[in-house]
Amino acid sequence: MARRILVIDDDADVRKLAVMRLQLAGYEVLEAPDGQAGLETLRKELAPVIIVDLMMPKVHGYAVCQEIRNDPALKDTYIIATSAKRYPVDIRKAMEMGANAYLIKPYEMEELMEKVCEAFVTLESLAEEAAAHAFTFWLRLWGTRGSIATPGPKTLRYGGNTSCIEMRHGRRIFMLDCGTGAREMGVAIQREFGEMPLEIDLFVSHTHWDHIQGFPFFQPVYQPGNRIRIYSLRGSDKSLEKVFTGQMDGSYFPVELTDLKGSLEFHELEGPLELGDLKVTHFGLNHPGLAVGFRFEAAGKSLVYLTDHEPYCRLAGVNDLNRRLDREVDEFVNGADLYIREAQYTEEEYVRKKGWGHSTWKDAVDSAHAAGVKRLCLYHHDPMHDDIALDNILSACWEYMKSQGMKFECMMGADLMELTI
Ligand SMILES: [Zn+2]
Ligand SMILES: [Zn+2]
Repeated sequence: MARRILVIDDDADVRKLAVMRLQLAGYEVLEAPDGQAGLETLRKELAPVIIVDLMMPKVHGYAVCQEIRNDPALKDTYIIATSAKRYPVDIRKAMEMGANAYLIKPYEMEELMEKVCEAFVTLESLAEEAAAHAFTFWLRLWGTRGSIATPGPKTLRYGGNTSCIEMRHGRRIFMLDCGTGAREMGVAIQREFGEMPLEIDLFVSHTHWDHIQGFPFFQPVYQPGNRIRIYSLRGSDKSLEKVFTGQMDGSYFPVELTDLKGSLEFHELEGPLELGDLKVTHFGLNHPGLAVGFRFEAAGKSLVYLTDHEPYCRLAGVNDLNRRLDREVDEFVNGADLYIREAQYTEEEYVRKKGWGHSTWKDAVDSAHAAGVKRLCLYHHDPMHDDIALDNILSACWEYMKSQGMKFECMMGADLMELTI
């Protein structure tokens, strides 16, 4: 934001003094001797903050305030009204006419500086708020690999970290799975927020290694004052907390879960959740053990995260039951603005990997089409697929979609990719 201020005052001495003090503080300062000249200057050289005297010849300060509020190009200007009149009725009137702050003359230069500082802080936080609401969801994919991390020169473009996605909605921080990508996400979060206490909601699709292995390396869990809420299903024979505790047992890791300084809350999912204006639903998937997909909805936008799933008809043959079960998955995905979906195998590979609990890229594309999604992001890449293999899969998807007249957007998920909805 430009640090530009316009001072409108017919009292040349007061004006000059204010201009000098503001310039000294590093602001770019414009000046005008009356309301009319002030409005002309403001229209020509937009200043985010103006200081306007209320009692002036030609156009008085009240009218300046009104004109600014009625002009779409100027209406967000921060107005500091100044006047020797200290009656509450005058102050109230100035605020009604659109002033943001009121400064009684004669004012000390430090009082002026305080008001100006306040003005820029307010404008900056409004701009930040507006940026946060420019989209409903912002995502960064920190890990898009399935099964095991695959670093190395052959996976430089798509990346080798396992499942982890950061999702922001308004000011809230969410995390979808915490595979090895969680380490870098933690570093980025610490860099952004420093010592500030954070609340993070982590949604875990299931507790296979590639979805939880980054957890002990996720820095925010070590910082006192942080609150991490972990949502997933209860394990088949133990609580969700026990499953996470097991991963950090002394035989496998030097720090135990109970030693973590951040506060952890484990929530075993039973039904839909409402977190502020965000609605979260989950759906059971066909995968060895217990696994769920998540659907996030807010402000009319939706995102489905569905990984580690083998279509029922694929695995157990086409019959009424399996067709219905597959249809139910697509109904859960229905119309999503973004569908992040595992697509681990090619058709050829599936023959040897049948029963491992995963889909082919064709399953992902067919499901996206059946569910009528807007965008499909292929995810949970097989460790055997290097960058060239993933390029080839994406080309095959596009070709198949073209041959079938499918219209949605299809992309290959990659580590560090940013997506907005
Ligand atoms: Zn997995
Ligand atoms: Zn799995």
